[in-house]
Amino acid sequence: MAIKLQMLTQDPKEIELIERYWAVDESGRYLEKVSALTGIIEMAKGMTLASFIRQRCNAFDENQVCPQCAELVEIKSRSEATKVPQRFPKLCTLCQDDQDAIALEVKKARAAELERQLAEYASKQSTRTVDYSMLPDNLVLLLLALDRAINPRLTHGGFTLGDCRGLAPRYAGDFILQLREAGLLLDDPGKASPGTYYWEGDEIWMSRDQVVYRLAPDAASRSADEVIRSLRERVYTDADGLFNLWLDYSVADVMRYVGNQCALYHHDLDEQEQEEIKSTLRSALQTYSVSQLWSVVWKVVRDAASLANREYYNRPKAAATIPGKIRRNLEKVQRDAIELKAWGRPEQHCAGALGMVLSEVLGVDENTSGQRVSSLVTWLTGQACSSTLQVALDEPIHELMTMALARDLGSSVMVRFAELIRGGHDVGFAIEEIRESLRS
Ligand SMILES: [Zn+2]
Repeated sequence: MAIKLQMLTQDPKEIELIERYWAVDESGRYLEKVSALTGIIEMAKGMTLASFIRQRCNAFDENQVCPQCAELVEIKSRSEATKVPQRFPKLCTLCQDDQDAIALEVKKARAAELERQLAEYASKQSTRTVDYSMLPDNLVLLLLALDRAINPRLTHGGFTLGDCRGLAPRYAGDFILQLREAGLLLDDPGKASPGTYYWEGDEIWMSRDQVVYRLAPDAASRSADEVIRSLRERVYTDADGLFNLWLDYSVADVMRYVGNQCALYHHDLDEQEQEEIKSTLRSALQTYSVSQLWSVVWKVVRDAASLANREYYNRPKAAATIPGKIRRNLEKVQRDAIELKAWGRPEQHCAGALGMVLSEVLGVDENTSGQRVSSLVTWLTGQACSSTLQVALDEPIHELMTMALARDLGSSVMVRFAELIRGGHDVGFAIEEIRESLRS
């Protein structure tokens, strides 16, 4: 017999029924149907045969041996019995209970350890302060924009990434990361919902969207409101920092449009393709405006859509042409000096708080060309954006000199240039002004 019985009753009629219930043939099949055994003994109302028998007998499957203690595994019903010895048998009830208790202890200990480490982390965080008067310009602008996007949560209480959607048209999380990496935003495990921080092996992981952030305390012990007020009085001096922030922001503003247009035509760009487009746009923004690049994107995405309908093409293949097409399109525009059209800002595509702050500080918007932004930043900070300005001026200066020498106007051009500089104009403006007058 493959099932071992341990009787808890001495009633011969009950014993006979129990033995008939569990009786199996050589192949492990039950000899009698349950329906044939019901009614032999009168049972309390609502009681099933299986539970009647379970109360009067413990049954053990000889085909299931507990790998831990080598005892037979108890079975509660006919369906739990196995016909052949098991290669990977389960634990007996006692061993399973022991194992569960150990697992529970480990889980409790890990939870306590997590709590301890988070408390230690939080107390370490609270001792860190920031000297806000030493912040670089780009971070000042970012903080002012963040304050506007989530007012009043930056200065009172805390906020999550989800709260920051109004910061920029896209990549709000990357801007927050910049502030976090600079130590200006601290995460506050005490305020996060349960499950935000968890163990992954021996490391503590966090689900980024649930982390609660707050502004790092001021080294001079001013309130958060006072800190933000003082940042508004900032005199900007870092041209490169500001121009790079404008580039970051403007790439996000164009990429939002790329995303919308691709969604419209069901183009799915993978991460590498998006990164490629971002690099191309960042270079182009040194010269063009956001709204001009929207028009390039509009054309390229439409071209890809019509390509997708052609024979031998499919959507992924057509989408993969978009990064290259944007690059080639911009190269052609530059080579042939084609004037780019400017698109209007689409409805529901907000400039975001960062766009508003840049507009107030620099007087720029989506129609301002990168070249112009560079001049404005220079004017505002009283210094040139070292590399970008020089690169941007290389070509106009070369063209101006060539034109002037060809017409034998070298000295009058230099005199006019000197006048404009003395008049308070920057180099870029003076060159542009003289080029215009030579052309007309
Ligand atoms: Zn066992």
